[in-house]
Amino acid sequence: MLLTENLVQGVDEWINTPRRPWEACGTSGMKVLVNGGINLSELDGWWAEAYTPEVSWALGDMQEHGDDPGWDAVEAGNLYDLLEQQVAPDFYSRDGNGIPVKWIEKIRKSMATLTPRFSANRAVREYTEKYYLPGAANYKKRAEDKGALAKKIIHEMNDIKNKWEQIHFGETIIENVEGGYEFKIFIGLNGIQPEQVAVELYAEGMNGAAPEIIKMETETSQNVENYVFHAIIKTKRKAADYTARIKPCYEHVSTPLEDNRNLWQR
Ligand SMILES: *Cc1c(COP(=O)(O)O)cnc(C)c1O
Repeated sequence: MLLTENLVQGVDEWINTPRRPWEACGTSGMKVLVNGGINLSELDGWWAEAYTPEVSWALGDMQEHGDDPGWDAVEAGNLYDLLEQQVAPDFYSRDGNGIPVKWIEKIRKSMATLTPRFSANRAVREYTEKYYLPGAANYKKRAEDKGALAKKIIHEMNDIKNKWEQIHFGETIIENVEGGYEFKIFIGLNGIQPEQVAVELYAEGMNGAAPEIIKMETETSQNVENYVFHAIIKTKRKAADYTARIKPCYEHVSTPLEDNRNLWQR
């Protein structure tokens, strides 16, 4: 850590050249940000999320190329080109007062736009707000009244566990509607109540985007063998891109943390 402290303070340009996808995260690049350094790194780990051309430089094309020596040579060529044609000129051109104006502009933009997102402050705040505080509040609720809620939850979990194996998907009806599809899926819940599950349609994201997840609804008043879950999707994608899945859904319980059951339609 001592060595790192000196490195991140003393470096102007932080070059990180892992072969995609081997960069786990790239924390060192974030440490450089707050010390006024600028990143030039492979679009992998955090840099695939953080890079924008106004603040820095990037290598790679967001694809994996294994250990292809031909691709290594291409990226090496790109690295030297960037250093010669962009990094060095920006760093060494100074104004009358000896200030590298373009370089300073990059530092400022990089610090202003990236440090609020990629910092321990943000991460710890997010964990605290999203997980630790709700977790602590949940614990308090469960412990009250000699653990009355905790007992109820365990009872419900055991009940769902016992009935889960017999859940079954029935007929699926997909109709074309204006701008997309209507999905109707018959599901036998084996005595599990529809409000105890979340039924969703899931599709992988396109071109690296986040997955699409659409909640399906049902009329909860029915007490029948098969429930009809339905959803309308506005999309240009194929209907076959969407797969239904069922997850347990409890009040006061974090899923999938405390119950990671997940039944996919085959
Ligand atoms: C930042 C840091 C790392 C991580 O470096 P990466 O380049 O992100 O892998 C590892 N060890 C120490 C001591 C560090 O300070």
